[in-house]
Amino acid sequence: MAVGDTRGARPSGPTVAGSSRAGTAIVVGAGISGLTAAVALRRRGWRVDVYERAPVLEPVGAGIALAPNAVKALDSLGMREWIDQAAVIQGSGGVRRPDGRWLVRTDLGAVAKAFGRPLVVVPRPELIDALRSQLPQAAIHLDTSVEEVLPGDETRLARVRTKQGEKSADLVVAADGIRSPIREALFPEHPGPVYAGFTAWRMIVEAGSHTKVEPSETWGRGAVFGIVPLPGGRLYCYATANLPEGTKFADEHAALLERFADWHSPIPDLIRRTPREALLRNDIYWLDKPLSAYHSGRVAFVGDAAHAMTPNLGQGGCQAIEDAVVLAHELEAEDGGGGLDVAMALNAYTVARRARTVSIARQSARAGRMQQLHAPLGTALRNGAISLAGHLGSGFMLRQMAAVAKWAPPEPPERP
Ligand SMILES: Cc1cc2nc3c(=O)[nH]c(=O)nc-3n(C[C@H](O)[C@H](O)[C@H](O)COP(=O)(O)OP(=O)(O)OC[C@H]3O[C@@H](n4cnc5c(N)ncnc54)[C@H](O)[C@@H]3O)c2cc1C
Repeated sequence: MAVGDTRGARPSGPTVAGSSRAGTAIVVGAGISGLTAAVALRRRGWRVDVYERAPVLEPVGAGIALAPNAVKALDSLGMREWIDQAAVIQGSGGVRRPDGRWLVRTDLGAVAKAFGRPLVVVPRPELIDALRSQLPQAAIHLDTSVEEVLPGDETRLARVRTKQGEKSADLVVAADGIRSPIREALFPEHPGPVYAGFTAWRMIVEAGSHTKVEPSETWGRGAVFGIVPLPGGRLYCYATANLPEGTKFADEHAALLERFADWHSPIPDLIRRTPREALLRNDIYWLDKPLSAYHSGRVAFVGDAAHAMTPNLGQGGCQAIEDAVVLAHELEAEDGGGGLDVAMALNAYTVARRARTVSIARQSARAGRMQQLHAPLGTALRNGAISLAGHLGSGFMLRQMAAVAKWAPPEPPERP
């Protein structure tokens, strides 16, 4: 698919109206970041169209952990009640060894006390549905691939071409994911995502007799298995393993079971109980080289398109949600009496988001390298360090989380 950067190639495009008003936006991609951006902009009066190339949204299930920072961002979009009903607040949990011994156990309830809102886990399709339900149906155009984006500038609107034709807008939100064709077109010098050295499986499984299982991550040599309870007697499980990029298995389910067959209960049983069609696998990539800016012309980049990170801190989606809320805030702040200044707003958006997300992506990659350690000595040292951290109590864990989790959405701009 070609998304071309033809900045300046068509000088006669629609020009910008001068009055103060909420604008028009085209969002490319209806993942977590695109839908959240659409919701945040609409709440501020913007007219928004979302173009999604897939014919359906997130049909298959995995869970997603939302840390207090993302929960507060969703609260600010009127979703507090949904979160409180839909999500499980994790009680206690920790890190185990493959033989089942706990390396560290923590009271996760302390998270909510420290940061104002809890750490929650929701099935992804339910999060997508909850966001979509805040948008008019007519605003979401499925099966509509964006083929070209003209980013516009201070005087000319941005333009987007799909097979249905061309449309202009004050703002284009590039929420087109880790392989973002819009990023490739507007930042051609950027090398794109790199392989993190491991793959990840995800599944939602009926808990069966394992309803009392505590949330845990089990760290082995070059492999991790995570279990998180979901509402309705289900468990969200995930597993990672160091593998060469692009490894394929004739039988994915058998390969996963073989890898974790001798790990502690209930891991092998949960894998056996997982229907083959419920098993997702992705090689893990991230943007190790940060984008120089999160905007170009009238195009703002959000979520994985801007800063795809490894899943080790569970922050990729959380940061996408933060992006959306901050983007809408900066546009509102620049929509003063003198007219909507998209260029100023997008500059402010890059300033507000880039340093934070680059730092979190790097921390996540470091956590990934530590969790995926394979050498016996390295693994033993890691386990010793984790045990020690456990003895330092939940205060230590909370301090580790603080920079990420204490974030809160910006206050609405003051109006005279
Ligand atoms: C194994 C794993 C576990 C994770 N766990 C967590 C977690 O617990 N917590 C957390 O916060 N994050 C987690 N993440 C990260 C999180 O999933 C991502 O950061 C998030 O889903 C990114 O959302 P997005 O909307 O930016 O991108 P995507 O979900 O990739 O959405 C991009 C959308 O754009 C569409 N698109 C692309 N090109 C076009 C085009 N030209 N025209 C129209 N549409 C287009 C695509 O079809 C797609 O729907 C995890 C990631 C992985 C891989």
